[in-house]
Amino acid sequence: MIGAGVVGLSVAWLLCQHGHRVQLIDPALARGQSIDAGSSAALGLLMAQVFRRSSGRGWRLRQQSLALWQQWREQLAQRGYQIPWRAGLLQLACNEQDWQAQTRLAEQRQQQGLPLRLLSQAELQALSPALPAEAAGALFSANDGQLDPQPAMQALLHDGQRHGLRTEAAAVLQLERGSKDADGRWMIHTEAGTCSSHWLVIAAGLASPALLEPLGHTRPQSPVLGQALELQLPAGCNAESWPGSVSWDGINLVPRPGGRLWLGATVEPGVTQGSPEALAQMRHLSGAAPDWLREATALRHWQGLRARPDERPAPLLELLEPGLLLTSGHYRNGVLLAPATAAWVLEQLESPRP
Ligand SMILES: Cc1cc2nc3c(=O)[nH]c(=O)nc-3n(C[C@H](O)[C@H](O)[C@H](O)COP(=O)(O)OP(=O)(O)OC[C@H]3O[C@@H](n4cnc5c(N)ncnc54)[C@H](O)[C@@H]3O)c2cc1C
Repeated sequence: MIGAGVVGLSVAWLLCQHGHRVQLIDPALARGQSIDAGSSAALGLLMAQVFRRSSGRGWRLRQQSLALWQQWREQLAQRGYQIPWRAGLLQLACNEQDWQAQTRLAEQRQQQGLPLRLLSQAELQALSPALPAEAAGALFSANDGQLDPQPAMQALLHDGQRHGLRTEAAAVLQLERGSKDADGRWMIHTEAGTCSSHWLVIAAGLASPALLEPLGHTRPQSPVLGQALELQLPAGCNAESWPGSVSWDGINLVPRPGGRLWLGATVEPGVTQGSPEALAQMRHLSGAAPDWLREATALRHWQGLRARPDERPAPLLELLEPGLLLTSGHYRNGVLLAPATAAWVLEQLESPRP
């Protein structure tokens, strides 16, 4: 298993639960993730049921993942690992067109028996702290929500290790197809030496294409940078009373303990350094920030890169050749889709082959 971001950790953990012998290789296991990695920057929003489509691969993966995260959190909690979860997601309508789309989606979900509810402008203004006055209304999903990515990743790593997961803190330099002498195993050359395996799963985010190219597999991905802020809200102002996290025009507001708020994330394709203009636009909710948000103090600023596949739908879940799996390019939903990705890998490993 190459790559210990949220995707690699989820795959490694699930395979160990099913009795597979797994070795997870990533230099970040020793020094933490670099700026190139997405998982350390993620806000952890799980947007499954507010997704605009109601069928197809994207919809199925989202529903499967949402259900699996719940199972995994319960299972890990029984073993002493708590993964903080804040249920509820309020998607604000920025204009009349948004509001009409939300009304149609709410009707569709009600027919599917899923609890999406519409909130009026007046209901939004009754919330404390009040949301942008420009919001035409909102769609509330009780099943979507936000989980803390960092405790989740720690739990998957440590519980995985208790179930036999082996780790190597080294970068993979080159992959080589196994010869008949080597029993058809893949040879994995790392900074620390060489190991071999019948199966190889690549979850190295933006570094995945460079590992695959020498093997003749071209799966280009482009970076899309995201910036986020942690804010201390003014005294007496606490977003924890909201019914969940909030999304406005693609900007997310995540209530945090102690009167804090995470605000994120910008969408900046093709750059590796965030622009101050994009940050300022997010900070002011594209001009719609209420006074309490303008008065908040910035405590922390961070950024990360998301891997978006070029000319293919996200994510890339592919059996490239016997024994070689790619699980990358999760773009804006790697935390959400990590469990469904892991379930897909397990299915590949365990399905009978000629
Ligand atoms: C600001 C921001 C906010 C986000 N918010 C959300 C959100 O709310 N919800 C959501 O679902 N998603 C969110 N995302 C997206 C999510 O973070 C990504 O989709 C996800 O982290 C991808 O995980 P990954 O494991 O595929 O990749 P990564 O986290 O990038 O991990 C790849 C790993 O591979 C390792 N690696 C690279 N090269 C090698 C090598 N040669 N050998 C060994 N290891 C290697 C790296 O060290 C790294 O640890 C957000 C992203 C950003 C940037």
